[in-house]
Amino acid sequence: MYVLLIGAPGSGKGTQAKLLKEILKVEHISTGDLLRRAVAEKTPLGEKATAYMAKGELVLDSVIIGVLEEALQHERYAKGFLLDGYPRNLNQAKTLDALLEKLGLTLDKVLYFNIPLPLLEERLTGRRVSSTTGKEYHVKFHPPKLDGVCDLDGAPLIQRPDDQPDKVKFRLEVFQKETVPVVEHYKKKGLVAVIESAKTIPEVQGQIMQALQL
Ligand code: AMP
Repeated sequence: MYVLLIGAPGSGKGTQAKLLKEILKVEHISTGDLLRRAVAEKTPLGEKATAYMAKGELVLDSVIIGVLEEALQHERYAKGFLLDGYPRNLNQAKTLDALLEKLGLTLDKVLYFNIPLPLLEERLTGRRVSSTTGKEYHVKFHPPKLDGVCDLDGAPLIQRPDDQPDKVKFRLEVFQKETVPVVEHYKKKGLVAVIESAKTIPEVQGQIMQALQL
């Protein structure tokens, strides 16, 4: 099954993608994770992405499209994928459509994670991430057992630089301006299922299962 997950930062699409990946037994491709790894490893891709990511801006299309093209050539996507964080603008969407056509693949569904803006700000600015495992916490909604350290291995929790309040505001503006038109693009193709994602994780998952008829 070929599924896109589109939603503002903090809308919970990453959390749901990890759960859905186990159910569908397909690969989860998160362009944000791919880029964060490249930045941490200081690869040439990471060098090109660092400044944009730190500011909460989109990385240049010419860079990210190459990353996606390369990822999709792999055989492990033959059974499907969950694409999380791509496409982020209309140009990326059109490039993806053309690429899938070239590969003979068809999108099954576009899940749009809808959520009120004030809730997103609270979710993002309170998010903390383990510096080793990447496990996510929230200072209010999902605090670790011991303040400031990961439950799994005691590693310090950090705040992503782009989760700082001024960056969050900017990222949400970018989403409205650049990514909402992508939802409209796929609505016209009849592919969009709206997921109300201000609910609990199991409730959101239930909506997804229904939308995908699982
Ligand atoms: P995310 O974890 O999906 O919120 O992505 C974090 C950051 O990675 C974004 O703020 C962008 O700087 C960059 N990024 C992720 N996916 C894309 C994409 N498809 N196009 C451009 N930049 C991206």
